[in-house]
Amino acid sequence: MSQTFSPPRATPAVPVRRRGVCLVISAPSGAGKSTIANALRASEPQLLHSVSVTTRQPRPGESDGIHYHFRTMEEFSRMAEAGEMLEWATVFGRGYGTPRAPVEQALAEGRDMVFDIDWQGHRQIRAALPADVVSLFVLPPSIAELERRLNGRASDEADEIARRMQAARDEISHWNEFDHVIINSELDQAIAEARAVLVAARLQRHRQIGLTDLVASFGV
Ligand code: 5GP
Repeated sequence: MSQTFSPPRATPAVPVRRRGVCLVISAPSGAGKSTIANALRASEPQLLHSVSVTTRQPRPGESDGIHYHFRTMEEFSRMAEAGEMLEWATVFGRGYGTPRAPVEQALAEGRDMVFDIDWQGHRQIRAALPADVVSLFVLPPSIAELERRLNGRASDEADEIARRMQAARDEISHWNEFDHVIINSELDQAIAEARAVLVAARLQRHRQIGLTDLVASFGV
């Protein structure tokens, strides 16, 4: 019977830690952004998801505290005024925002977080955390395909779909503000590409704390 031996892991001579990555994913509704974000989290349970606050009503299957924190407009305005949100915006006339405290905690612990927010949120969060944000925009392969995907959503009415097509064009017009762009023609490939962006972001030099000391210990 043969036995396999793996060589002992060589620990770095000087510990290297890293700051967490804030991976912002934006896309027009129907491009597959949530599916991609969910797939990333499914393969990496330690990856945190930023649960946004919203004033819209829950859709069937959505739970408070998991998909969103569902709040009244009064509570949303109070949180915005108290500085409890890192960014916030109005989308389709409803308030959406990112609670600040979980993001600060994740960064302090060196944990990575995924943000499923729109272009307005991306602009604000990038301005607030310039060294921590890496952003990704998901495009559909064509506008016809996007329309087809939106029509397939049973939970949305016809006028809601028309509104979302216009909103989709508005969202897409901001594609060139993002670091990376994925065309979601084939879901498995899009997920693999999003994962590659996250892995590369973790390896960015400025994110790794202790590299200078490690290299100095080499006598370089
Ligand atoms: P939905 O109502 O379909 O869940 O989301 C509508 C839009 O709001 C999507 O484009 C979504 O990315 C965006 N959104 C969700 N949460 C936030 C947030 O916390 N901040 C911002 N700026 N946009 C958000």
